[in-house]
Amino acid sequence: MIQAGHLASSASVTPSLTEGPYYKSGSPEQANLYQDGMAGTKLIVTGYVYDTSCQPVANAWLDFWQADANGNYDNSGYTLRGHQYTDANGRFQLTTVIPGLYPGRTEHIHVKVQAPDGQVITSQLFFPGVTQNDSDGIYNASLPLAITKTSGDLEAQYNFVVPAS
Ligand code: FE
Repeated sequence: MIQAGHLASSASVTPSLTEGPYYKSGSPEQANLYQDGMAGTKLIVTGYVYDTSCQPVANAWLDFWQADANGNYDNSGYTLRGHQYTDANGRFQLTTVIPGLYPGRTEHIHVKVQAPDGQVITSQLFFPGVTQNDSDGIYNASLPLAITKTSGDLEAQYNFVVPAS
């Protein structure tokens, strides 16, 4: 017998992708990585962290790092690096800029996400419609941001799924 409630009661864990060479531990706790005068287009990403039973995960750790609009990472400091925790509803919001291209890579934002006491998932978020997606060997078509607003600042949405802890 088909139990309808089971049709949407589980989800696959967000695919893992390479950390790459530019991760730095110890990022500051900050959901806003954007600074006045920063080059590039401001980007606001909102979403939720769920477990594989589709339950929102409160207090999940999210650590974001990315290149600036010119494709450069800050390897001496923590510009465009920061961690945050989901709220009681499992929600997060990241304010940043659209990352630039650097050789071999399409636009991407690196992320680590972890439920409290759970397994760390390392992945990358991508932007739909970027020409270089097709020539980037790391690009994963299942990880595009859903763009929700393009006039002025860019707004996008993404939900993570982590292993149940
Ligand atoms: Fe990168």
